[in-house]
Amino acid sequence: MRQELDDLLCQLYPEIFRDRHKDKYETSMCWGFCCDDGWFDIIDSLCATITAQVKAGKMPPVVASQVKEKIGTLRFRILGGNDETHRLIELARQKSEVTCEECGRPVERRIIEAGSILCSACSDK
Ligand SMILES: [Zn+2]
Repeated sequence: MRQELDDLLCQLYPEIFRDRHKDKYETSMCWGFCCDDGWFDIIDSLCATITAQVKAGKMPPVVASQVKEKIGTLRFRILGGNDETHRLIELARQKSEVTCEECGRPVERRIIEAGSILCSACSDK
């Protein structure tokens, strides 16, 4: 993911990404957001929902421990949270399955190239 978007997520959700610059022996967040820019909105809305729930006292604090693409879907690993957090993460994963990792457009047909899920426009490039 582009540096600006990485910085933006850390700035918007300092609690969730407080381990972003910790040592690699402590967290996999040291590697940053290991997916393409097209999933920014999915991560952004997931974190906005989590933050709202935590602020409302409905969810224990959540800290991301790893964010990456694996086999064409978003993996968002956390410490803390509750069943609802895991439900939200699963919804985000399902959304990533039909969202181009490069441009964020809906994917009409799953094309996985070098592990990334792309729309036909991006895979034709
Ligand atoms: Zn695309």
